[in-house]
Amino acid sequence: MNIILLGPPGSGKGTQAEMLVQNYRFQQLSTGDLFRKNILEKTALGLEASKLINSGNLVPDEITNKMVEQYLLENKFDNLIFDGYPRTINQAEVLNQILDQKNLKIDKVIFFKLNQDLLMERLTGRLVCPLCKRSYHIKNRKPKIEMICDFDSGPLVVRPDDHPDQIAIRLKAYEVETAPLVDYYNNQNKLVSINCEGKNAEELFLNLTTALELS
Ligand code: AMP
Repeated sequence: MNIILLGPPGSGKGTQAEMLVQNYRFQQLSTGDLFRKNILEKTALGLEASKLINSGNLVPDEITNKMVEQYLLENKFDNLIFDGYPRTINQAEVLNQILDQKNLKIDKVIFFKLNQDLLMERLTGRLVCPLCKRSYHIKNRKPKIEMICDFDSGPLVVRPDDHPDQIAIRLKAYEVETAPLVDYYNNQNKLVSINCEGKNAEELFLNLTTALELS
């Protein structure tokens, strides 16, 4: 089963993808992680994308689609989670074409429904482990030891695009570019909404596995 996790930044997609990978036979494709890896390794793609990402803007479709296409060509998969991709209607259409060529399809799109007012608070408190990509929160999902990852003891950091000015740009980009995908996938009868409000990661995971009909 191939699925898309769709929702605004800070709605918990990355954490839920991580939990699906740990508990079920899923692989995660996070375009944000792929871009950050390229930035870290100073590849041509990383250099091209870094300014846009650090300012909170989306990377152009052409660059993003090419990166995803290459990933899908180079990796074998049968249970893939698309996390943070597609983010525009163009990306959704290109993804369809790529999957079509491989006789694959998107089975379900999970929409993470959350009041936009909560997102700023969630994102301003977010800490991430650059090694294993797990994310924490200074109030809601604290690491056992302050600023240290529970899993690999690496130091936690604040993402450069998790500052208020950049967050505002990312939320706007979501509203304008990504939110139309809710109707797009609803019209294809692929959308399942889960309500994220007031739920911790474990409660949300229960809703997610129910929505995916996983036992
Ligand atoms: P994320 O880790 O998903 O929050 O992504 C971090 C940043 O990477 C985004 O704010 C964008 O600048 C860029 N990015 C990630 N995925 C995409 C995408 N599908 N389309 C365009 N830009 C993206």
